[in-house]
Amino acid sequence: MDGDGLDRYQQKRDFTRTPEPTGGRADGGDPLFVVQRHDARRLHYDFRLQVGDALRSFAVPRGLPDDPDLRHLAVQTEDHPLDYVAFEGVIPKGEYGAGTMTIVDRGTYRLVEPENWERAMADGKIGVVLAGRRYRGEWHFVRTKRAGEEGRRQNEWLLLKIRDRYARGEDDPFPDVDLFAATEAALPDPVEPMRPAATAEPFSDADWLFEMRFTGRRVIAHVEPDGVRLVAADGTDTAAALPAVVRDLGRLRAERATLDGVLVALDEYGRPSREAFDAAIEAAPVRGQSITLQAFDLLHTDGLDLRALPLRDRKALLRATIPSLPTVCAADAVAAGGEAFCATVARAGLNAVIAKRAASAYSSGASTDWREIPVAPDAKAASMNLDAAIGRPGKRPLRHGRVRFTNLDKVFWPDTGETKGDLIAYYERIAPFLLPHLADRPLHMNRFPDGITGKNFYQRKANEQFPEWVDTVAARGDRDREAEEHPVCGSIETLLWLANLGSIDLHPWMSRRPNLDHPDFAVIDLDPKDAPFAHVIRIAKTLGTLLRAVDVPAYPKTSGASGMHIVIPLAPGYTYEQSRMFCEVLARFAVRAHRDIATVERSVGSRGGKVYVDYLQNAKGQTVVPAYVVRPVPGATVSTPLAWDEVTSDLHPSHFTIHDVPARVDERGDLHRPVLDPGIDLLEAIAALQREIDTV
Ligand code: MN
Repeated sequence: MDGDGLDRYQQKRDFTRTPEPTGGRADGGDPLFVVQRHDARRLHYDFRLQVGDALRSFAVPRGLPDDPDLRHLAVQTEDHPLDYVAFEGVIPKGEYGAGTMTIVDRGTYRLVEPENWERAMADGKIGVVLAGRRYRGEWHFVRTKRAGEEGRRQNEWLLLKIRDRYARGEDDPFPDVDLFAATEAALPDPVEPMRPAATAEPFSDADWLFEMRFTGRRVIAHVEPDGVRLVAADGTDTAAALPAVVRDLGRLRAERATLDGVLVALDEYGRPSREAFDAAIEAAPVRGQSITLQAFDLLHTDGLDLRALPLRDRKALLRATIPSLPTVCAADAVAAGGEAFCATVARAGLNAVIAKRAASAYSSGASTDWREIPVAPDAKAASMNLDAAIGRPGKRPLRHGRVRFTNLDKVFWPDTGETKGDLIAYYERIAPFLLPHLADRPLHMNRFPDGITGKNFYQRKANEQFPEWVDTVAARGDRDREAEEHPVCGSIETLLWLANLGSIDLHPWMSRRPNLDHPDFAVIDLDPKDAPFAHVIRIAKTLGTLLRAVDVPAYPKTSGASGMHIVIPLAPGYTYEQSRMFCEVLARFAVRAHRDIATVERSVGSRGGKVYVDYLQNAKGQTVVPAYVVRPVPGATVSTPLAWDEVTSDLHPSHFTIHDVPARVDERGDLHRPVLDPGIDLLEAIAALQREIDTV
């Protein structure tokens, strides 16, 4: 269909009747794109991309997806003339495409590899990066497998969003905001913040929004590709003191953005507090980790000055621009019910609310569109959790059930700034997926009371320090003289209590009570020490192929440190000796296939820079970290389940951290859930392996 010029376009239309354009000439600038909503016989969206003097055109019934999990059908139609990029109007009844055409978005685009339309069309894969107002980032067209089959058209493509900073989920749709009301312009620098010009009594009004007045340091946050500034009214920039906030601002759904907000530290009751802020900023960057940015306005994003938009729209864009981040959030505002909100804020022990006119533009300096409402804080409210009071997801409380957390602000990962509080928050979030792997297994703890650069010690004995509600089991490993009481982590309370002791990673046995002599999975541990991770991947792929060939389900994961684990669930009743033997067959096969990069030599000196394929871990009393456990290595990485098709040279264990893994599990599901299912007949598998290996 490419290369037929505009003949088909011309033939289909009667230009004495339709207002549609007839031509247009490229002016040598960046190529243009347009997305038009076409309310024709069937509502659809037309996605057009400039190629020379024409617009290559696709009809997309469901429009451009924002969610990388979706695949939207896109049917290529005839090329349109370039002037169509600006066309809005009504195509009269009886004419081709009769109906109303409106522009959803337009801007410029570039092709990704190959940077050539004809090659991309021939390859059946077209990558485009859009720079519009509504649509930004990368999409791919992929020719459908069935294109050209009987009853199928050659011109059918699937349109999909690539996972980049602009990707969003189904429950997180792009807001209905008119971005053409914004102007393409830079902001003044510095920006003078907007302030309330008056105070008021509590009131309720549907035209107003109400938010609490945060105590802390008001800043304008400037986010640019080359850095972040957090500029206070006196011109000081706090960015250097707040690496976690800076890191999170780099993850916005915008390459450039300017936000208005308050840097806040919470007191022990979860309320923004001047004292907590002063103490935290004083000790920054070490203790500054407890400071968050409560953003309440978005002034600029990716080249668009938003200040003339109504506050209501800026708030919607602000929420849409901030994904779920540990230290940056869009401050909540309530509409209309100001009096009830003031009462809630007072009950939480806070002292002011700001009312803002919902339709107002952002203007610098004092404005009557903002009013400050003082409220009398309720002194008895001291023990109340503010987040609960105003329904705001925010900082974790200081307790969970019977566990009282301590030193949440202590930095555990100095390079990247994660705190003990971050560790606990992660374990709290991931507990439903992790706990089934820990239940009923004797546990060894690896405690880092002062973070990963401090002293650590292994502990497997539940001592007097353990509260009596922590479950334990008496267990004796093959190398132990006598049985010891080990902790067992069967509840979220125990998990968080262990985390509060600084147990970063948890090492359970491979068997569960009451069958401690019988492992319920086998594991191959690929340990590279100084070998490249690419070698680990090559070996893992070979083992994956072999195990598939003999029908043995196996589940890979990163170890979270430098290697990989391949986990194979076992049917009940086998001994550790049998599982070790099975893994030895696998390990020796891997070494035969990769003599240059794999070894079963245990001692580091004899490994010769090769990846150690460890099968000896399959022994009673030995342990292996399960999926979702955090590792005490820089970056706060997590042992992360993988699909076999992710075991490629692109993979690196550093991709999976306490920041990424919860969202990944939401997205990909729990890839290690099948490890908990009844496993393989081991003897049958060993026999099948022998046969397969002999024939290779
Ligand atoms: Mn159309």
